[in-house]
Amino acid sequence: MKIWLDGGLQDMESARVSVFDHGLTVGDGIFETVKAVEGRPFALTRHLDRLVRSARGLGLPAPDLDEVRRACVAVLDANPMPLGRLRITYTGGYGPLGSDRGEHGPTLLVALGESTRRPDSTAVITVPWTRNERGALTGLKTTSYAENVVALARAREQGASEALFANTVGQLCEGTGSNVFVVLDGEIHTPPVASGCLAGITRALAVEWTGARETDLPLDVLERADEVFLTSTLRDVQGVHRVDGRQLPGAPGPVTAKAMRVFEERAGNDLDP
Ligand code: PLP
Repeated sequence: MKIWLDGGLQDMESARVSVFDHGLTVGDGIFETVKAVEGRPFALTRHLDRLVRSARGLGLPAPDLDEVRRACVAVLDANPMPLGRLRITYTGGYGPLGSDRGEHGPTLLVALGESTRRPDSTAVITVPWTRNERGALTGLKTTSYAENVVALARAREQGASEALFANTVGQLCEGTGSNVFVVLDGEIHTPPVASGCLAGITRALAVEWTGARETDLPLDVLERADEVFLTSTLRDVQGVHRVDGRQLPGAPGPVTAKAMRVFEERAGNDLDP
């Protein structure tokens, strides 16, 4: 497996990042996960826009997008696979231990992993921890994902594949790696970005393509929604058949199934050549 590091392709087994890289020691980094179909990245420009926004939010130097694009193409070409997850990581670089920015930054790492098509529906749980809708990192895709790791482990213990958070005022927010949609009386709703969720790229496309409305929703909407679905780069649109103890038989329901079809039909147009 070839990865991109220090400005060129390297063998994954021998590539080295400093043990003092601040992405490792203090989570001072950002990332993007990009789906790649037959070596073609999906919605790469949108991902790079978000990478730039995350860098700005974290106070990192602006990434060199020409290099990031070159790195993505090189890594995809070097590792052919039918369905891949391209992972772009960009950190503050390395320097003395501590929380100041690394002196030798930034580090750009692009790697590729294999991905598989997700099932049409899944189980989710809600967790008692809250997303902060007004924090310094709100809306940034940083490598500080430990809270998501803990929540996802809780979900797995309960036979679910995703954990959903409310925000500090009890509104439905997002999952550990996905955005959430509910269907109420035939209408699709999703929490607004102001709820503290990540501005998901799949979410934005789903809003655009299905006419979903951005609505503040209490967490307990999950107890009465007719249908629930998730969106993310690796899930696309995925129905939900259980939320905590509540079964949603027949998932994906008709509105979700239509959103899945629309997504599948239109997504092919956003693949880079
Ligand atoms: N919310 C969080 C916290 C995420 O980490 C992700 C993706 O990893 C998403 C939402 C979905 O975003 P996207 O559709 O851009 O993958």
